[in-house]
Amino acid sequence: MTNKNDQIILLVDDEPRLLESLRDLMTLNGFQVVTASGGKEALLVLNKQEIDLMLLDLKMPGFSGHQVMDYVEENDFDTTVIVVSGESSYDAMSQVLRRRAYDYIKKPYSPDELLQTVENALITRYLEKENRLILHQLQESEKLHRYLVNSSPDIVYMLDDKGRFTFVNDCIVKVLGYNKDELIGMHHEDIVFMEDTEQARYVFNERRTGERAPRNVELRLKCKDKDRSPKYFVTNTIPIELTATGVYRNKESGKSQFIGTYGVARDITDRKEAERTINFQAYHDLLTRLPNRALFKDRLNLAVAQAKRSSQRLAVMFLDLDRFKLVNDTLGHIFGDELLQAVSHRLQQCLREGDTLARFGGDEFTLLLPQIYGQEDAEAICKKIIHMLREPFYVEGHELYVTISIGVAMYPHDGTNMDVLVKNADIAMYHIKGRGKNDYQFFSREMNDVSIQRLSLERDMRKAVEDEQFVLHYQPQVDVVTGKITAVEALIRWQHPKLGIIAPSDFISVAEDTGLILPIGEWAIRNACETLRRWRDDGTSDVRMAVNLSALQVEHRSFVKTLVKILKDFGLSGKDLELEITENLIMQDMENTVQKLIQLTGSGIQIAIDDFGTGYSSLSYLQKLPIHTLKIDRSFVHEIKSNPEEACIVDAIIAMAKGLKLNLIAEGVETEEQVKYLHKRGCSEMQGFFFGKPIPEKKTRELLIKKPFEQNPYSEVG
Ligand code: C2E
Ligand code: MG
Ligand code: MG
Repeated sequence: MTNKNDQIILLVDDEPRLLESLRDLMTLNGFQVVTASGGKEALLVLNKQEIDLMLLDLKMPGFSGHQVMDYVEENDFDTTVIVVSGESSYDAMSQVLRRRAYDYIKKPYSPDELLQTVENALITRYLEKENRLILHQLQESEKLHRYLVNSSPDIVYMLDDKGRFTFVNDCIVKVLGYNKDELIGMHHEDIVFMEDTEQARYVFNERRTGERAPRNVELRLKCKDKDRSPKYFVTNTIPIELTATGVYRNKESGKSQFIGTYGVARDITDRKEAERTINFQAYHDLLTRLPNRALFKDRLNLAVAQAKRSSQRLAVMFLDLDRFKLVNDTLGHIFGDELLQAVSHRLQQCLREGDTLARFGGDEFTLLLPQIYGQEDAEAICKKIIHMLREPFYVEGHELYVTISIGVAMYPHDGTNMDVLVKNADIAMYHIKGRGKNDYQFFSREMNDVSIQRLSLERDMRKAVEDEQFVLHYQPQVDVVTGKITAVEALIRWQHPKLGIIAPSDFISVAEDTGLILPIGEWAIRNACETLRRWRDDGTSDVRMAVNLSALQVEHRSFVKTLVKILKDFGLSGKDLELEITENLIMQDMENTVQKLIQLTGSGIQIAIDDFGTGYSSLSYLQKLPIHTLKIDRSFVHEIKSNPEEACIVDAIIAMAKGLKLNLIAEGVETEEQVKYLHKRGCSEMQGFFFGKPIPEKKTRELLIKKPFEQNPYSEVG
């Protein structure tokens, strides 16, 4: 409570005697006093020090008590005034009280009454001060709360018991674009995204409080204008996270009454966007933006479960770009990446809605075709894909041809769970790789053994290179007009220590995939040249030597240099050698290949297109190429039947070779009929079992030293 010693009382009276007795009374009762013997003097004191209470006489010469009071009021002094005056008219009293004096004590005063009044005034003064302070604090804290609520980064709102907004803070304007005034009175459902109304009803109507109230419920709210919502979300909505609690008023009866809901909502756009990105990265390949392995397996799992329930079929495909590694190695990764993007884009155009194309890794893709009727559907897609890839790709000024090998596994026939289906599709795909690529293949049980074989084959092949387990056999090429052997083709065989002789068709593709074709191919050329040198030296024959090449060899940086060196090492000239390459090899990277072939033909080396007619159908490139010979693929020769009408492809190839002034050799000639047919159409050079199978070097030598007529008893045919 108030302490008398802290309070300073100013006594104002022009009567010195009265002033003195007043001072005595007050000091005796423990009050601190100062005195002034007139109005003017009182003003001086007031200006000099803080006065809590003033006992003021009214009638004073010069400056009256009324004037002092006016002065106090005008200057906002915080001084309580008690008038002590001899005037007793009602008028004087009411004037005094109007000027806000605390009380009016009539002279002569009773000391007790005076002291009591002073005490009361001081107490009142104290309480008023306290109240003012509390009021001030209250006002300040209300301001603070309003500030906090409005500058909160979260939406703060209140709903009435019907679910209509009764309060919203400033944040809502920033987030949703509505004015506060627009929202007040609006029902909360008016701003909730339609699909979320069920969820919203539950949280916006929340009646529970405290721990039991729901927290962080996610919803979408409609914003006022369209461009407010982020691009990945449903247009016109903002995702929020909402926490709400019921609000109650305590009634006098002691019961509480529900009056509405109070809630806080947070704009979670950024978080949603981050989640979306993280999610996307976890389930997609960032280069092609296709689903990745994880997402593919997820979808396949679902599709298998669905197919099981509805007894439907589905197909899983494993797709692998042929020789993509070469593109990466020769043209660089950036180039390879661009090609992958272009390829995946084109692949997507072959698909139906609901199909999933995924990048499995590197140049491997997987494709899920749910709900298909049978193999024919899957087959149609395979054909479409292979067809779509026939058009060249243009990447950074390069024209590139891409081919693909596709393995297919069908549910439930080839597997009833995800892992088996993917594995079997992969095995089927590998089967294609082993058979010249650019094709599709359905899985069959027998393939399992083959794929296991393939693995050990890879391992053994590395050893075979070191140990030189390879051998060349030679097959003659005969000119049926002269009966002479014009050339022999060197065909490689692998003498496997356990498996015996392995044919090139069973290991060349593995050698190509592992890069081992480089040392193996070089060994073959070197060995063939060495043999030819020997034949020349001992006078056996002056035939040409034909050697087969893989794309990887031609595309190797030092390909031309190596070849020239081998010829030089054995003292051979260019025209002693014929290189057999396939159409597909040239199409892979035409510019580069053509450059190298031109260098080779410059030194007299002959170039033959092997298996002609089985590769790309575009013929325009033939003119651009420095080639000498076309080897008609044996599949066409095989078609030659007794009925000449059916052999039109061979006819066309012969006509074309003549037009382009190219030599022609027919491969795989097995029957007299074929010999006659070909010869009649003007193709006189032939190779095939009819003239002799590929045989070891010693036997070839014996064949070569025979006289022409004996070499080929059929030289007179035609
Ligand atoms: P290619 O160059 O088209 O060789 C002809 C293939 O047809 C040889 O099979 C040969 O034995 C076979 N053939 C010859 N005449 C007949 C016939 O009248 N009827 C039938 N049905 N087949 C006949 P081979 O020796 O198994 O070689 C297969 C392929 O392996 C070759 O096809 C060639 O592309 C590749 N190749 C062989 N040696 C090498 C090599 O040293 N390097 C590379 N890169 N590839 C090679
Ligand atoms: Mg060949
Ligand atoms: Mg061939």
